Amino acid sequence: METEDTTRGSVADAANPAPCCDPAEDVDWGEWLCRELVAHFDVETEPCAVELVQRAAGRLNAKRAPAAPLEPIILWMTTPTAFIGPGRYIYLSRGLLHQACCQEAVAFTLAHEMAHHDLGHTQLYRGKLALVRHLRGSLIAAAVLTMADHWLNGPENEAAADARSLDLCLAAGYDGARCLELFDLLERYALDHGAIECVFGPEEDLHSVQEGHHGWRAAARSWIWRHRYGYLPIRARKEQLLARLGAPDRTRRGQRAIR
Ligand SMILES: [Zn+2]
Repeated sequence: METEDTTRGSVADAANPAPCCDPAEDVDWGEWLCRELVAHFDVETEPCAVELVQRAAGRLNAKRAPAAPLEPIILWMTTPTAFIGPGRYIYLSRGLLHQACCQEAVAFTLAHEMAHHDLGHTQLYRGKLALVRHLRGSLIAAAVLTMADHWLNGPENEAAADARSLDLCLAAGYDGARCLELFDLLERYALDHGAIECVFGPEEDLHSVQEGHHGWRAAARSWIWRHRYGYLPIRARKEQLLARLGAPDRTRRGQRAIR
C-alpha cells in the first residue's frame, strides 16, 4: 500500500540532500521514483507487449540469480529509450517496444540496464535524487535521464554495461547478432532526428588516421564529445560488440555509403 510520504517535496531537500548510503535507502528511492513515474505516465498493459518484456526479464533474471530480480515497467513515452533508477525497476518506453525489431533487441535493452545495476553504476544516484524530489512526472523523468547521462552512463560505464549485457544475453540463450539489432533501431531514430554525430561520432574521428601534429586535437575533441554525450557513438558501440561476438563487421560498408 502506498502511504503519504511526509518527507517529500521541499526545496530544502534539494539544498541539503540526504545521503543515500544503504541498500534499503536505494529501495526506498526506487519505490518513490516508480510511484512518481507511474502516476504521470500511463503504463503499458497490452498483453503481448507485457508478456514479451516479462518473458525476457525472466530469462535474464534467472541467469543473474542469486542476485535479486529486476522488474521491467513499460511507460507510455514516445522516445525509444530505457533507463534504470535505484531500487528494483527498469523502465522501457513504449516507443522503444513499438520500434524494436525482435525479442532479442528487447532482451539486450533489459540486460544493459541490469548490467548498470549489477556493476554498481546505479549507486551513483546516491544523494542526487533529492535534487529532483520536488519535481513531478515528466520533469522527474527528464531529470533522471539527464542525471543518468551525466553520472551513470559515462563512456566507460556504457562500454562495460554493453559487454556485460551481451554476455548475459548469450548466457540466457539469445542470438547475439540479433540482440545487436537494437543498435540499428537506435541508429534509424538518431538519423531521422538529425543526430548524425550520435551515430558516427565527431567528424574528427573519421580523419583520426591522419594523426600528424594535429592528432592530439582530434583526440581531445573526441574525448570531449564522448563525455558530453556520455557514450560512444552508436556505430562504435555496435562494432565493439560485434568484435566481442567474433562476427564480421557488416556495418562499415553502410557507413561509407551514408557518409
Ligand atoms: Zn547505459
